[in-house]
Amino acid sequence: MGSSLFQESVTACEECDLVHHIPLLKRGERFVCEGCGHTLVNFREHVEKRIFAAGISSLLMGLFAIVFPFLGFSSNGAERSISLFDIINVLITQDYLILSILISLALFVFPLAYLLTIVLLVWSFHNRHISLATKRYGARCVIVIQPWLMVDVFLVGILVALVKMNSMADIQLGLSFWAFCAYVLLLLQTVMLVDRRWLWNKVAGQAPEHRISDRPQQAKRQGLIGCHFCGALLADTNRHCSRCGHTIHHRHPQSLVTTMAFLIAAVIMFIPANIFPIMHTTFLGGNEPSSIMEGVLLLWSLESYPVALVIFFASVVIPLAKILSLSWLCWQCYYPTERETLQKMKLYRITEVVGRWSMIDIFVVAVLTGLVQLGNLISIFPGPAVLSFAAVVILTMLAAASFDPRLLWDTRISAPVLEHKE
Ligand SMILES: [Zn+2]
Ligand SMILES: [Zn+2]
Repeated sequence: MGSSLFQESVTACEECDLVHHIPLLKRGERFVCEGCGHTLVNFREHVEKRIFAAGISSLLMGLFAIVFPFLGFSSNGAERSISLFDIINVLITQDYLILSILISLALFVFPLAYLLTIVLLVWSFHNRHISLATKRYGARCVIVIQPWLMVDVFLVGILVALVKMNSMADIQLGLSFWAFCAYVLLLLQTVMLVDRRWLWNKVAGQAPEHRISDRPQQAKRQGLIGCHFCGALLADTNRHCSRCGHTIHHRHPQSLVTTMAFLIAAVIMFIPANIFPIMHTTFLGGNEPSSIMEGVLLLWSLESYPVALVIFFASVVIPLAKILSLSWLCWQCYYPTERETLQKMKLYRITEVVGRWSMIDIFVVAVLTGLVQLGNLISIFPGPAVLSFAAVVILTMLAAASFDPRLLWDTRISAPVLEHKE
């Protein structure tokens, strides 16, 4: 299945804008940007078969995760067993519509859309009847959905919820729980296998050829634009990429303003997210609201130190650190210095990777709400802070996505100009 060589002519790094001539790659070879260390192409062994196998298995496990009992829970003689759908069902019947939509998107809609599209795309490589437009559309879906896949975060959320409940009740893990674990692992495997340039190369052919300077230089300085969506290199007279159809720019217009706007919105939402309760617990008739910090302190007092630390980092430290570091990076772009550009680049990458883990607490509340519904005996409901906190996470993710890292290199000295190696 598929050729054993990867041929892509020239490309620009989407993180530092340095232009590269990519040599012919064999299976199992990677090509890394000389300027910033970003992996430009990772051409894996038997990648098509492996994507196909992992994708189909993940879809199957996703099906098993729905049909069997997911979690069981018993307290003081009362019992309750739920399926994965019941979590969403309870949220809908209790009128937490936005939260139920968020959970449905994270658990089913995005992952299933991703898996189906990538499996069909790989299949379409060997089917001439599928039009280029359809394949392009599919590849776009794959690239756009990928950062919003959060099933692994949800899995950790379930584990935290189980630790929280451990002192109050007995928990049984159902068959679907194990299927869900497999679903998550196989989905991660599929995502890891999909390389952006490889995908576009297979979908729409090689990127257009260009004469490039012998000395490695930024695309902007050679009158070229690198498409950040598919990696193709284009003349700067173009407004759209000829390979993927995405709009192209030297640098995203208004990148810094957009990032700052998202950050300010996130700061505003961070206040209600921490003041108001994120969860209400009804226990033997009494109602006990708890905010994010109260939840952390409760776990600490129950001697669940690792879980308390996970929640503290995910819900308090990461959002704050993300807001601060992105603001600092924006500041560095407004007043460019040539110091430590590579370090700034690393900071940006970390911000991008850890951001979605802040969703843990939202998922914990959703799982507990679905599971713990025993009327006056013990019941758990989401508090008003859930939505503002979800907004903080989504806004900071959008802020990171709208920041153009190529701006960090736009200083006189640190622009990656490498000496030509003989
Ligand atoms: Zn680079
Ligand atoms: Zn493109």
